[in-house]
Amino acid sequence: MPVPLLSVVIPVYNEEDLIDTLVARCLAALAAVTPDFELICVDDGSRDRTLARLLALRAAEPRLKVLCLSRNFGHQAAYTAGLHAAQGQFVAMMDGDLQDPPELLPRMWELLRYDTCDVVYGQRTDRAEGWGRQLLIKSFHGIFRNFSRLREADNVGNFSMLNRRALTAFLSLQEKNRYLPGLRSFIGFRQVSLPYAREARPDGTLPKMSYQRLFALALDALFSFSDLPIKICLYTGLLGIIVFMLAGMYVVISKLRGVAMLGWSSLGLSLYFLGSIQLLFLGIMGEYVFRIYRENQNRPLYFVQHYHQD
Ligand code: UDP
Ligand code: MG
Repeated sequence: MPVPLLSVVIPVYNEEDLIDTLVARCLAALAAVTPDFELICVDDGSRDRTLARLLALRAAEPRLKVLCLSRNFGHQAAYTAGLHAAQGQFVAMMDGDLQDPPELLPRMWELLRYDTCDVVYGQRTDRAEGWGRQLLIKSFHGIFRNFSRLREADNVGNFSMLNRRALTAFLSLQEKNRYLPGLRSFIGFRQVSLPYAREARPDGTLPKMSYQRLFALALDALFSFSDLPIKICLYTGLLGIIVFMLAGMYVVISKLRGVAMLGWSSLGLSLYFLGSIQLLFLGIMGEYVFRIYRENQNRPLYFVQHYHQD
C-alpha cells in the first residue's frame, strides 16, 4: 500500500449534525495541499448516526477512512488510535467540531514541508466559547503555564501537524494518563506555533466534553506534568508547622507570665482543621497511588471494532 503524504486524524463522538460540513471543509482545504492524503475519522463509540453518515460519505470519497472504536474511550484515546493508524509522512490532529478551522491545514503544511521544523501547533489567540467554560479553561492554562515548565503547551490544544520523526517520538510515549498537548511539547524537536482564533461550535451543537471530563483532563495534565499537588501538601504542611510553633511559643510565654490560656473550642477547631487537611492530603496521595496502579495494569488505551479502509 503506497504511503500517503498527509494523514489528518479527527476524533468524532456524536457529531451527526456537523459531520457533513466537517468532511466537506476538510476535503476543500486538503485540495490546496495535495491529492495524496488520507482523512481518518475516528468514531469514538458514537450513539447517533455519525458512523452511518461517515460511511455514506466514504462511499463517494475513498480517501476518507473510518476507524471505529469498540466503545467510547474519550478523545485523547481516540486521537491516539487515529495516530497509530495514520500512514502519512506528515500527520495532522484536529478536533471534529469545526472549532479548529480546517482551512489552516495548508498553512501548517507550508511550515512543515521544507523540513525547517518538525511540529506546528495552533496557539489560540482568542476563543469563542461560553464565558463559564472560557473562565475555567483560562484558569487551567494559567496554572499549567506556571507549574508545568512546558512553554509550548500554553493555550494550546490538539490542533497540530507533525512530521514522521516527531510522530514516532510522540507515539513512543506510552503512558495511560494522556494529556496530548503536554506530551507533544515534551518530545521537543523544532516546534513552531501558528496563532489562530478558536471558533465557536456551529450553532446548536453542544460540546461533547462535559465539564466533568474537562476537569478530569485538567487533573491528568497537572498530575502528569507538574508536581503541584505534592507541592501543595508539602508547603501547607510546612506552613502548618510554623503557625503551630508560633502559637505554641505564645501559649508557653503567656503561661510563664501567669496567664493560663483558655479555650477548648479553639482546640477542637484546630483538631478538626488538621484532621480534614490530613484527609485531603491522603486523597492526593491516593490519587498518585491510583495513577501508578493504572499505569501498572497496562490496559490498552482503546480497542478497534473495525477499520474501514481500502
Ligand atoms: N470527542 C471524542 N470522544 C469523546 C468526547 C469528544 O472523540 O468522548 C471529540 C468530539 O467529537 C470533538 C473533539 O473530540 O471532535 C473535541 O470535543 P469537544 O468539542 O467536546 O471538546 P472541547 O472543544 O471542549 O475540548
Ligand atoms: Mg470543541
